[in-house]
Amino acid sequence: MLRLASRGGLKSRALLRNFNKYFSTHVERKLEGKVALITGAASGIGKETAAKFINNGAKVVIADVQNQLGQETASELGPNASFVVCDVTKESDVSNAVDFTVSSHGQLDIMYNNAGIACRTPRTIADLDLDAFDRVMAINVRGVIAGIKHAARVMIPRKTGSILCTASVTGVIGGLAQPTYSTTKSCVIGIMRSVTAELSEHGIRINCVSPFAIPTPFYLDEIKLHYPELEPEVLVKMLRHTSELKGAYCEPIDVANAALFLASDDAKYVSGHNLVIDGGFTSYKSLNFPMPDQV
Ligand code: NAD
Repeated sequence: MLRLASRGGLKSRALLRNFNKYFSTHVERKLEGKVALITGAASGIGKETAAKFINNGAKVVIADVQNQLGQETASELGPNASFVVCDVTKESDVSNAVDFTVSSHGQLDIMYNNAGIACRTPRTIADLDLDAFDRVMAINVRGVIAGIKHAARVMIPRKTGSILCTASVTGVIGGLAQPTYSTTKSCVIGIMRSVTAELSEHGIRINCVSPFAIPTPFYLDEIKLHYPELEPEVLVKMLRHTSELKGAYCEPIDVANAALFLASDDAKYVSGHNLVIDGGFTSYKSLNFPMPDQV
């Protein structure tokens, strides 16, 4: 056996190298040494992404308007998570969250503008409540552009960085949500596209993730308004039924995985992209072609 191994030494070492390359159980930590700031990370998609980033070696600052929940989330995620209270509608809060991250960890590598709310406004344009519209725009749009602005402020001198924003499938096609919410999410995609070229000049990448509906508190609170008599479990089942990709449904981990890809060097040449996480939903529409006797 030994003689065989020594005779085939070179070959064995090559085999071992290939084995390690393709079948190693070693978990790659894709964000080792990186520092991330995630808004709206006290719960839902942001929290899941914070956990994913930490598991991949990053230090994560959670910025959220919910003070107590944010602190609880940070302690749940361990010593590589910290919390800063931040209302993204206030530019000074966003600026402070960025400065807090840099003073705590020396740098900001990843800025994830994820905070957002649904809007309890009528579905029809004729009934649009413009005050509610302004409030939702302030969080979902102004909050995102403030995050990009202040991340750029500290990333430009270092000539590196990755910025992510949570948009939505509702910003890609119309009719899935109220006009107010859809407008905010198409604005997020528009902002990303409008600053990509300028950020590229400084070596900074910017991308969006656009998830399909996920039963986070955000979604459940909104849908409950339309079906107050139904239990959350029933609402979750109803939502899962809408999945285009049979046998699977959209979960926070799917967004966290996409965010990890875009934030890491795996996506080192990906910028200005809107990554839909929708099981094919926005690529498909059946024609409903009628039979002759139906027209
Ligand atoms: P969530 O309610 O679980 O999390 C949203 C977080 O944002 C909360 O922790 C909340 O406190 C925080 N937040 C709200 N207003 C804020 C403010 N002014 N400043 C700072 N933080 C604030 O919901 P989620 O589903 O995880 O939502 C995250 C993002 O994903 C949102 O931008 C949402 O629009 C988007 N999104 C959600 C879905 C879905 O179906 N859940 C689908 C597509 C996109």
